[in-house]
Amino acid sequence: MRALLVEDDEMIGRSLMHALDNAGWSVDWVRDGALAHSALADGGYTCVLLDLGLPKEDGTEVLRRARKRGDATPVLVLTARDGLDHRIHTLDLGADDYLLKPFELRELLARMRAVVRRRDGAAHSVIGTAALQLDLTTRDVIVNGVREVLTAREFALLHALLERPGAILSREQLEDRIYGWGEEVTSNAIDVLIHGMRRKLGAEAIRNVRGLGWRVVPA
Ligand code: CA
Repeated sequence: MRALLVEDDEMIGRSLMHALDNAGWSVDWVRDGALAHSALADGGYTCVLLDLGLPKEDGTEVLRRARKRGDATPVLVLTARDGLDHRIHTLDLGADDYLLKPFELRELLARMRAVVRRRDGAAHSVIGTAALQLDLTTRDVIVNGVREVLTAREFALLHALLERPGAILSREQLEDRIYGWGEEVTSNAIDVLIHGMRRKLGAEAIRNVRGLGWRVVPA
């Protein structure tokens, strides 16, 4: 899964990058509101972590403009600003959740999972089809009732495909969801990843649609 981190504080940013990487997230980090705006316009993020006090454009303005464009990416606001009025204002602008600094990393990860689940329209943490399910909490796949462990990239790929079973995702769309900026992506990276996954999931689990991309067949 791919996240956008918008944070101008170097120390907080660096520690979050490290922690999120360990938790299996692929993260792009921007340090001001203007860059956040253009990164969001490019799309492909599962979740956004948004600081409010930012150079160039305030976090609330980034959020307001993104929602105005119809961008529904889940946004989790991270800020030191307190005050009930301020929290209500941010939520009314379209933030999905709010976390006050300093926070515990475990709580941040749990809240990220929760906003992503809500976006997926699932009240619980399992999404997918009858034959192929993804547990968003443990990050395991369940194939016909049998659990298999996935790598971070396998999880990101399957999560993208299972958000809308049946929808075709192109190579570029999948790459956007799996890899962060500056990550070296070989031209056959997605093919290699899917080839490996078919061994875990069965040959027919992820179908290639010639010239268009890949899909998971809905139940
Ligand atoms: Ca800040």
